[in-house]
Amino acid sequence: MIPLLDLQTQYQSIEAEILEEMKAVLRSGQYILGPYVEKLEQQIAEKIGVNEAISVASGTDALTLTLIAYNIGPKDEVITTPFTFIATAEAISRAGATPVFVDIDPTTGLIDAKKIADKITAKTKAIIPVQLFGQSADMDTINQIAKAHQLIVIEDACQAFGATYKDKPVGSLGDAGCFSFFPTKNLGGIGDGGIVTTNDETVALRLRQLRVHGSDKKYYHREIGVNSRLDAIQAAILLICLKHIDRWNEQRRKLAYHYTQHLKIIDNITCLTEAPDNKHVYHLFCLKSSNRTAIMEALSAHDIASAIYYPLCLHLQEAYQLLNYKLGDLPNAEHLSETIFSVPLHPFLSNEQQTQVIEVIREAAQS
Ligand SMILES: *Cc1c(COP(=O)(O)O)cnc(C)c1O
Repeated sequence: MIPLLDLQTQYQSIEAEILEEMKAVLRSGQYILGPYVEKLEQQIAEKIGVNEAISVASGTDALTLTLIAYNIGPKDEVITTPFTFIATAEAISRAGATPVFVDIDPTTGLIDAKKIADKITAKTKAIIPVQLFGQSADMDTINQIAKAHQLIVIEDACQAFGATYKDKPVGSLGDAGCFSFFPTKNLGGIGDGGIVTTNDETVALRLRQLRVHGSDKKYYHREIGVNSRLDAIQAAILLICLKHIDRWNEQRRKLAYHYTQHLKIIDNITCLTEAPDNKHVYHLFCLKSSNRTAIMEALSAHDIASAIYYPLCLHLQEAYQLLNYKLGDLPNAEHLSETIFSVPLHPFLSNEQQTQVIEVIREAAQS
């Protein structure tokens, strides 16, 4: 079986380091926040090139709490993309605000920055560009629009740890960046976790308070907060993964380049592209084909995994019926959801495995 992602092989490659650190965490008796978490926050702030990194319990919480920390809530609108994981819009709704969806660029799947201005109203407070599949949206255009309309920019960088835009790390390109440590992400732990990166000291302080029940002093509560903290065991593992992430991302890039060279010449197959200003870290490798079903069936028959990210746009989800969008409102996103699929790509995919995937796609696409 060739899986989309191989977490077991990744674990085995660093098992000795992890077991050593686990013992130290278990013996420390301090399991939530504490020195490992502080060290991780420092190292991530440094890597992203910001002053502050505030860890929380998930990427979803990173987004939700950041919106709350910027006082975005009921009656406010937040612009985002319909072609993302539900958590992006869910965070907006959980903060009490309303998501407003803007169509995408069909060549990358990223929000089409040129279409944002049309959706701005007096209620618009923020833009959440999603650094989808591992690459940055058009941040210069987004930041210009935000500046002109005094909007907050929160990057959903959950899929793009290590990616850059014009040589600057994602997570440092807006007012705040949100990352997820869900195990399948490029930088993933062995459970849930997330982090917010920012240079905004006020927001950082507010996040540190929100994540511990709105408290800055034990049993004194300044506001109604939540319980959203990172465990020491996750921080210890993430500190180890952080040492390997650049190499792992480089390997993803090499494999993606090879896929693109061999797949783009096949009729009826189009690879999503890397935008010119980007270093893409290929959280997923995505293709488009009108023959998607047959190709995915052929892959499955050869014991090769494939998957659809995402089969239904957010504006058409049952959960968002209340927003009254209809089929046809965001045609590029809708069309992409009908043609896109992902094939195996992870740092431990071998050349032989990759060749096999390419061969099966070639045969299936041409038959
Ligand atoms: C994974 C993901 C999230 C949510 O992260 P969790 O840690 O699973 O809560 C948010 N946005 C995007 C784009 C994601 O891929």
